[in-house]
Amino acid sequence: MKSLTNRSISVSNKKMTFMERIYLPAVVGGLFITLKHFFRKKETIRYPEQKRPVSDVYRGKHVLKRDEKGAERCTSCGLCAVACPAEAITMVSAERQKGEEKLYREEKYAEVYEINMLRCIFCGLCESACPKEAIFLTTELMPANYERADFIYGKDKLVEPINNRVDVSKRQETEVVTNKYNDK
Ligand code: SF4
Ligand code: SF4
Repeated sequence: MKSLTNRSISVSNKKMTFMERIYLPAVVGGLFITLKHFFRKKETIRYPEQKRPVSDVYRGKHVLKRDEKGAERCTSCGLCAVACPAEAITMVSAERQKGEEKLYREEKYAEVYEINMLRCIFCGLCESACPKEAIFLTTELMPANYERADFIYGKDKLVEPINNRVDVSKRQETEVVTNKYNDK
């Protein structure tokens, strides 16, 4: 049969020698390899206590941004959900009431906004699709968890704290910044 890679090895039915049958040389060889790696510099780190540095535009956990005055930017238009190839985003819209102008930037807002992080592939398409600069991915790594339900991130985990803003300036393209300026 024609080989595609030239890496195939034919199976041999040759009888094992006495040394091969007692397996000792193979066991000693295996132990030697283990010993060799024991003294080598470790490739692994003690995550989560230690973290590797990531790029400024690494695509990690999402953040729902507030505007300069602290109001939520998301207008629940659904474009991020439509753009999401993993169908990870769901939302429920609500109408802003009188007196809520400080809370929500637009007349329509997301009362519920959820991302299923088990589905998310961190592609960043939601970020690109958002016309309101409301959703961004951050450099924050997703923490591990035991329960599936804990991977459904709602607004409590996604909206940025008003007194602890998340800097996303490194991942904003010039066009996006220009739009933001014109949008004010
Ligand atoms: S990063 Fe990609 S997969 Fe994850 S929620 Fe956004 S669009 Fe969906
Ligand atoms: S995050 Fe952006 S794209 Fe998604 S619903 Fe809100 S405003 Fe629309």
